[in-house]
Formats: sequence, structure tokens, C-alpha cells
Amino acid sequence: MVLSILRPYFLAFWHIFKRTFTVKVPYEVPKPSERYRGRPMLHMDRCIGCGVCVYVCPNKALTLVTVDGKKYPQFNAGRCCFCSLCADHCPRAALTMTYEYELSSYTKDDLIYPPSRLSLPPKPLPGRVVTVKTYDVRRGVAHG
Ligand code: SF4
Ligand code: SF4
Repeated sequence: MVLSILRPYFLAFWHIFKRTFTVKVPYEVPKPSERYRGRPMLHMDRCIGCGVCVYVCPNKALTLVTVDGKKYPQFNAGRCCFCSLCADHCPRAALTMTYEYELSSYTKDDLIYPPSRLSLPPKPLPGRVVTVKTYDVRRGVAHG
């Protein structure tokens, strides 16, 4: 009985000595993993306009549009669930998932990525990029 009352106090005291897990976004940002699925990027030179990506997209985030007489996918960031099905099924590897995750916008129109915008490389990560330096179950995680 007494122990169960004291236990939360011991736990709270122990946490004083643990490292903080928090990354101070936006001053620091955690490094995305290699397989992180952020905004897709289109490689226009490889795209053949077959429309497979549009067909497999479960959220209808891609539509085919015509640019200079050729068909390319146009991307709607407001609909995407970052499942990577489009990139996985593209027969020409013309779509790749990037680490870019800051896609919020003040207008719906700004969420639309025509082929020219979709083919831009991802923006550099904002803030200092940190990785997990020390992982310790007892003392917590340190970033550096
Ligand atoms: S990105 Fe790939 S799947 Fe989509 S239209 Fe181009 S070649 Fe086809
Ligand atoms: S990642 Fe998934 S939801 Fe987003 S465009 Fe590709 S298939 Fe559609």
C-alpha cells in the first residue's frame, strides 16, 4: 500500500536524471531515415506518361496533365497519404519519395504540384539536422 503511493514519486524523481527526448523543432530537426516517405519527386526525363501512378494512387492525389504534348502526373499534396504506391509501381522509376515533409500551405492551390514543380529536388531541411547520438533505455536518448 505504502509502496504503491511512493512509487510515482520515485518515478518522477528518477526522470529528473533522464535525458530529454525532445528535438527542438524548428531550431533542430531529426534526420529522416533513408527510406522516409515524404513528397514524391518526378523525373520528367524518365516518365512515359503511362498513367500507372495515377491508377494505383489510392487517394486520387495524382492526375495526368499535358505539358508540351506529353503526359505527366500532377500531384496534390493535400490528398497524398505518402504510401509510396506510385513510386513502387512506376515502370520507369520516374517517381521517387523524398525526405521533404514541410508541405503545409495557406491555400489549396499551393498544394498542387504541376510536373515542373513536382520535378524540383526537395528543399534543404530547415534548422540544424540532428541524429540519435546515444540510445540508452535507462538514461534516455541523446541527439547530436
Ligand atoms: S511517373 Fe511513372 S507511372 Fe507515372 S506516368 Fe510517368 S512513367 Fe508512368
Ligand atoms: S504516395 Fe500514395 S497517396 Fe501519395 S501520390 Fe503516391 S500513391 Fe498517391
